[in-house]
Amino acid sequence: MKNTLITGTNRGLGFELVRQCLARGDRVFGTCRDVEAATELQELATNHPDQLTIIELDVTDEQAIDRCVEIVQSHTTHVDLLFNNAGISPDGEEWSNLSPETLLHSFHVNAVAPVILTNRLYPLLKASQESKVINLSSGQASVSKKGDGGKYSYGSSKTALNMLSRTMAFGLRDDGIIVTAITPGWTRTDMGGPNAPNSPEESIQGVLKVVDNLTMEDTGEFLTWEGEHYPW
Ligand code: NDP
Repeated sequence: MKNTLITGTNRGLGFELVRQCLARGDRVFGTCRDVEAATELQELATNHPDQLTIIELDVTDEQAIDRCVEIVQSHTTHVDLLFNNAGISPDGEEWSNLSPETLLHSFHVNAVAPVILTNRLYPLLKASQESKVINLSSGQASVSKKGDGGKYSYGSSKTALNMLSRTMAFGLRDDGIIVTAITPGWTRTDMGGPNAPNSPEESIQGVLKVVDNLTMEDTGEFLTWEGEHYPW
């Protein structure tokens, strides 16, 4: 049984990660910003009282990160899997309305928060026999494939996430902690929209299969939900 911590679990891919991790028997810590409003997540917790703990966490709130780690620590000695899933893609961002606030907030949620949470969770990750940190990246993080003038905040903050993933991968290698950036593919969520080809079920089935097969050879890599390398 794996101890699994997932951020941004009230909807979308985070919710589906919780659902599938519970189904396979993981002990899950699912975080979200507004626990009261997370009714579907609460329903899962009611149906899996010994398996799911919901923790309130805005990933940009450093004190909330510390509280979250304390709560996890009060339940377990180690964390085997961390999914840095919470993410944002600002709507309607154009050259004409570019703002430092939007750029900085995207960098905070998509890149800074995953590295800070991993840093604060480090003792629990180190205590696991085989821990993996999975950063939910995006095809839009790819510098070599960039071919348009949009999504300033989203693409660049995910590129920063990829670099931080690779940096952590080298930094934590000697502790046996695998760190990998994985793109879940274009998926039908609030972020992906209704025209995306993948359902959350398909995407997360793929992601979990890739994660289960990760070895130290994959640490620091940028992979797709189908296990292929994605161009940096
Ligand atoms: P959604 O927009 O559907 O869900 C985003 C989740 O992140 C929500 O739970 C949201 O919580 C949470 N979140 C946003 N800001 C914060 C914050 N400050 N603190 C805590 N939680 C926060 O996105 P998806 O489920 O589609 O995406 C999940 C991940 O997968 C993201 O990192 C995204 O970039 C990545 N991805 C998604 C793709 C897709 O096609 N769907 C493609 C490629 C990558 P709240 O409800 O409170 O806002």
